[in-house]
Amino acid sequence: MRNMTDAPVTTIDDASVHLLRAENPGPMTLAGTNSYLVESGGDVWVIDPGPADSRHISALAEAAKMLGRPVGVALTHDHGDHSEGVEPMIEALGGSEAIAFLRYGSLADAPFEPVHTPGHSADHLVFVLGDVLFSGDLILGGSSTIVPPGGGTLIAYLESLRVVAGIAPRLILPGHGEPIEDAAQAVRNQLAHRVAREDALAAALADGVRDREALLDRAWSDVPEALRIAAHVTMQSHLEKLDLEDRLPPDLEPEGRRHWGHR
Ligand SMILES: [Zn+2]
Repeated sequence: MRNMTDAPVTTIDDASVHLLRAENPGPMTLAGTNSYLVESGGDVWVIDPGPADSRHISALAEAAKMLGRPVGVALTHDHGDHSEGVEPMIEALGGSEAIAFLRYGSLADAPFEPVHTPGHSADHLVFVLGDVLFSGDLILGGSSTIVPPGGGTLIAYLESLRVVAGIAPRLILPGHGEPIEDAAQAVRNQLAHRVAREDALAAALADGVRDREALLDRAWSDVPEALRIAAHVTMQSHLEKLDLEDRLPPDLEPEGRRHWGHR
């Protein structure tokens, strides 16, 4: 975990941003969940408390109090590796009477602006603070995120990436991985990555490949074994997108087909 005495990851006007990483490394969480502290005018917000790990929560609370007056907790999306720490975090900072909670569907006065960016999850928000964007799991540092199928999520995800491209941040602070300095290029790369996957999948389907494993071998051949299940899920999202666009061959095995979104 980074130490609270480390230098801020960035400053924006009179605001400073600090990063504390939870110790929950894994194939999906990379080095662990990134929790951010935003200090602005003496007020301190926590973005993504992370897992319910008491050491991480106390370190975050201690750092928040050192930086100023804790006033709020913000959540990019309700997945456990970001959200399980919300309640203990609010308790550690003084309870829900004193601490505002900002997430999708709720309003709270924060120094950063929430933007709804569905795709990785339906409730996903990114937070914009000047020219810095907290991307949650929409964009990761050094990896591509998972886009689960259901309700046209991949189409929403690509639209969300275009929204971020329009915001044109200088710096992206992701929910996992390292800060992304070349933000515009990172967004272009993610869009290009999805197009490349779709092209590879469409080419395999055009070659008559129908078996799911064989399709995965063709279009996701570079994915390590630990991420194969995640790639399966993402491939379903790509198939769903092709289906919604009437681009699936009629003889594709119907596993899930025409039943997208019925969860
Ligand atoms: Zn995550």
